[in-house]
Amino acid sequence: MAGRGLPEGFVRGLREALGARVLDRPSDLDRYAADALGVGAPPDLVVTPDRTEEISTVARLCHEHRVPLVVRGAGTGYTGGAVPTQGGVVLAMERMNRILEIDEVNLLAVVEPNVINGDLQRAVEAVGLFYPPDPASLDSSSIGGNVAECAGGPRAFKYGTTKRYVLALEAVLPGGEVIHTGSKAVKNVVGYDLTQLLVGSEGTLAIITRITLRLIPKPPARATIAGSFPGVQEAVDAVTALLYERVVPAAIELIDKDSLRAAEQYAGTRVAEGDALLLIECDGTPTAVEEEVVRVKRACTVAGALDVRRSTGDADNDNLWAIRRQVSLALRATGLHKINHDVVVPRGRIPKLFDVVDELRRDFGLRIACFGHAGDGNIHVNLMIRPDDEDERARATRAERVLFERVVALEGSISGEHGIGFAKKAYLSLELDSAQIELLKRVKAAFDPHGILNPGKIF
Ligand SMILES: Cc1cc2nc3c(=O)[nH]c(=O)nc-3n(C[C@H](O)[C@H](O)[C@H](O)COP(=O)(O)OP(=O)(O)OC[C@H]3O[C@@H](n4cnc5c(N)ncnc54)[C@H](O)[C@@H]3O)c2cc1C
Repeated sequence: MAGRGLPEGFVRGLREALGARVLDRPSDLDRYAADALGVGAPPDLVVTPDRTEEISTVARLCHEHRVPLVVRGAGTGYTGGAVPTQGGVVLAMERMNRILEIDEVNLLAVVEPNVINGDLQRAVEAVGLFYPPDPASLDSSSIGGNVAECAGGPRAFKYGTTKRYVLALEAVLPGGEVIHTGSKAVKNVVGYDLTQLLVGSEGTLAIITRITLRLIPKPPARATIAGSFPGVQEAVDAVTALLYERVVPAAIELIDKDSLRAAEQYAGTRVAEGDALLLIECDGTPTAVEEEVVRVKRACTVAGALDVRRSTGDADNDNLWAIRRQVSLALRATGLHKINHDVVVPRGRIPKLFDVVDELRRDFGLRIACFGHAGDGNIHVNLMIRPDDEDERARATRAERVLFERVVALEGSISGEHGIGFAKKAYLSLELDSAQIELLKRVKAAFDPHGILNPGKIF
């Protein structure tokens, strides 16, 4: 019987509250057994609530019966965050996917958590507004998941990550209480900032049920520049030259040789002759964009670009950015297993990060593909291993520890946007000292005294 091991009174309570929206068939449970990390086991039950009151009831029952409760957005996370580690209930937010309000005067939107990022972007752009956070998963990941991971994307260089846009939250605590943090006003300094505490909390403190987001006016013009370079070193030099040009493009994305060739093959099109590609997006008023384009081209040329071209229009723009967004999928399509690390260093130290990657290739004999947000110093370092090669996997495990140690020594972070989940928790103490970890645990206990919410994550 599915749901086995769960207290009878608990399961009865769930069914009374949610009826047929309590799922227990093995085929249903299997759909919730993994996220994009691809590792995990099914829950005992899945519930698909469609309003806050139901979520409150589920949380209260789990709290009373000490049953693990794991919130799931769209399941695109890379660190196992939405996957149960101790069985229990998955709270699938898929029915809570409505845009409730777009307020053109106060420049904000109110959404349920499982609105897909790209759907919100299109809805606000239709009225001349703009929601900048643009993870490469924007057409599949949810705003709730983006908030819980503090997702970033190419545009974070100029516009910041998700946290800059979260004004207010409605959330359910593990005991079932509903709290409202922040407000629709742009300023609010009353009490501790619980809104920002919940941003990036990876489903371990509370269940986010409604999100108020700040919007900005949509920039009227944009242009994409594609710079093709002989290698990563020249592309990285161009990023430094750009910073000295004092331009702040909306995005600066770097794709190295292995990633580029995989993406081109996946898309069936050739976009650059060189072994590294920089994609740079400028946006703003038409005059400002034209000025920026001149400086961007100059920085790329000075750094040794083989070719610098401006996109020829919207279709070409979209094509170039589709290549970037598909890199991750393309690397997976190579048939190799991709172990993705979204490390981040202060942007002036990107050359040193690439030195570390070369060292890992040499010392561990691994194939490593890199791409990512060069403007933020947030580079995805992908260890590409043959799925059945145990020796290669063992070398990759040793290499990842060295990578994290080096990144921390460069005053960077082991995760810029994917979070810790269970995939990286063994490395938490490389970056945080024991006093900080103890404090985080006390915060967790204050929200969730019985440790039912997403157990086995972060710590
Ligand atoms: C191809 C690909 C490209 C990607 N590119 C990027 C990128 O550019 N930038 C980036 O930041 N990430 C990227 N990601 C990772 C992923 O898309 C993000 O982490 C995203 O924010 C996860 O959203 P989700 O809805 O899929 O959340 P899930 O995977 O379902 O959940 C992620 C975490 O959030 C928690 N959670 C979800 N909803 C709620 C809620 N309502 N309340 C409380 N907790 C909740 C879960 O418990 C879990 O811990 C990429 C992933 C893929 C597969």
